[in-house]
Amino acid sequence: MSEPLVDSFGRIHNNLRISVTDRCNIRCFYCMPAENVQFMPRADLLSFEEMERFVRICVGLGVNKVRLTGGEPLVRKDLHKLVAMIAAIDGVHDIGITTNGILLAEQAQDLWDAGLRRINVSLDALDPVKFKEITRREGYENVLAGIQAAQRVGFDPVKVNAVSVRGMTETEIVPFGHFARTTGAEIRFIEFMPLDADNAWERDKVLFAHEIIERLSAEIMPLIPIPDQNPHAPATEFVFEDGVGRIGFIASVSQPFCMNCDRFRITADGKVRNCLFSLEETDIRGLLRGGGTDAEIADAVRASVAAKWEGHQINTAKFIQPDRPMYSIGG
Ligand code: SAM
Ligand code: SF4
Repeated sequence: MSEPLVDSFGRIHNNLRISVTDRCNIRCFYCMPAENVQFMPRADLLSFEEMERFVRICVGLGVNKVRLTGGEPLVRKDLHKLVAMIAAIDGVHDIGITTNGILLAEQAQDLWDAGLRRINVSLDALDPVKFKEITRREGYENVLAGIQAAQRVGFDPVKVNAVSVRGMTETEIVPFGHFARTTGAEIRFIEFMPLDADNAWERDKVLFAHEIIERLSAEIMPLIPIPDQNPHAPATEFVFEDGVGRIGFIASVSQPFCMNCDRFRITADGKVRNCLFSLEETDIRGLLRGGGTDAEIADAVRASVAAKWEGHQINTAKFIQPDRPMYSIGG
């Protein structure tokens, strides 16, 4: 392996997120517009072979963790084949996926057999009516079936991501606390971030982690921080006082973790972004398709990471929301 991928703040980047598509089978309001979404032309999406080559090059730069996301990754045909291709790369120690779970029940076994071991399923409400309000689509039962299927085939824990939005999430907090305790799934509340297609984010619309912790502690029982957590993990994890039920918090707005960030990402159309909130991208697809050598692609990745800023500016007047919403970046 050559020099690790390091930025000007000394952060080493070993964690790659790959968006495999910008398409999605639901329309969460905090991510996508309700209708008339302009998806990328299919020819612009990287092929599995192109993604595999890119991962191999990144492994040569020290990457050992890969997560597939989107858009909805499970709408990409034969995704398990990509999982198997990446799992077979020497040096990839950890491969995960983030999915809305709608198609998970039918794919969980294939994904497991392909070598996937980490799964995050997004579900913002345990109330089916609220689920439909948020996602503007049907599918609540499929997501629950997907979580159960994932647990059955061996994923442990299944992590459930819930975006926390003021005026929406309050009624779901205690039900999610009980869900964590009864199912063994770990619930992770993610503070609503300014990456929505409608540009409607406001700080007042974020339900903060500390408010959820207070509510769960008062209404179920105290939450205790889990000791010795990985400082690079975005979630701060807690367990209920009796040891039953894990809850994590990704407090990107109220407690940014940029100084411990070890991630970079590639969009489905092959642009490297050194931060979710980047305003600049590095074109890798052009190199992949234009005869670029592995060394040229590695240099492009290195330069992108080296230029990473100190952190997002969500809490300042300087913040500029990126042109690409979450579904197009790959969350
Ligand atoms: N479609 C898959 C899913 O929903 O899990 C993967 C892609 S989605 C963009 C990845 C994660 O980003 C999901 O957990 C989703 O809830 C989260 N997300 C999307 N928009 C967000 C926003 N504006 N703020 C915080 N989290 C967001
Ligand atoms: Fe689709 Fe995921 Fe965005 Fe929801 S958050 S619209 S499931 S990409």
